[in-house]
Amino acid sequence: MKTIGLIGGMSWESTQIYYRLMNQKVRDELGGLHSAKLILYSVDFAEIEALQQRGAWQAAGEILATAACAVESAGADVVVLCTNTMHKVAPQIEQAISTPFLHIADATANVLKKGGVTRVGLLGTAFTMEQAFYRSRLEEQGIEVVIPDDRQRARIHTVIFNELCRGEIKAASKAAYLEVVASLAARGAQGVILGCTEIGLLIQSTDTDVRLFDTTAIHAEQAVQYALGRF
Ligand code: GLU
Repeated sequence: MKTIGLIGGMSWESTQIYYRLMNQKVRDELGGLHSAKLILYSVDFAEIEALQQRGAWQAAGEILATAACAVESAGADVVVLCTNTMHKVAPQIEQAISTPFLHIADATANVLKKGGVTRVGLLGTAFTMEQAFYRSRLEEQGIEVVIPDDRQRARIHTVIFNELCRGEIKAASKAAYLEVVASLAARGAQGVILGCTEIGLLIQSTDTDVRLFDTTAIHAEQAVQYALGRF
């Protein structure tokens, strides 16, 4: 089994889900007492979030590239960045390391294509929903991306930073998210990407008839498949 290097802490509320899912998957696949071989570099999210706000992506990228080098030197065979938003600096990270980097949007695009989804809704931070770095990666694979309207995007973004990344799960926010999911489906989306690694804490497939694609679960699954030499 290969060793997975995680760059986490963005936020740690979702990094712990990666940790649990990867270990569960390895146990399911190999049985007995098997668990995932993991190296975690967890950053202080307040530092990263301050850089996001200032648009200082280069500086944030340097911190994450340093983290990637650290997990690589510690023995990681593959690097997994546990946030959709910070994939904005994926090229900076990839340049700093020689081990493979599993891009979360590519992992998601693979699952969408297998599921026959060609038009999909996208929920995430404002950066992820509005900027090209994430959407274009899906569009390059022939997937059309539908995003919520201005008012909905503001609400989705605020709930991520003010509630989910702080471990707060509120019924009113869940209802608001499900309303957005329904409106994306009404606009022709065949499914909705939970394109922020904390959203699965708030809404799950059992809450709606619309197909949800949880990037945390998809990314964790792909990393384990890679580690087991099946991908
Ligand atoms: N975890 C979130 C994501 O997947 C948001 C936190 C961040 O800005 O990195 O985008």
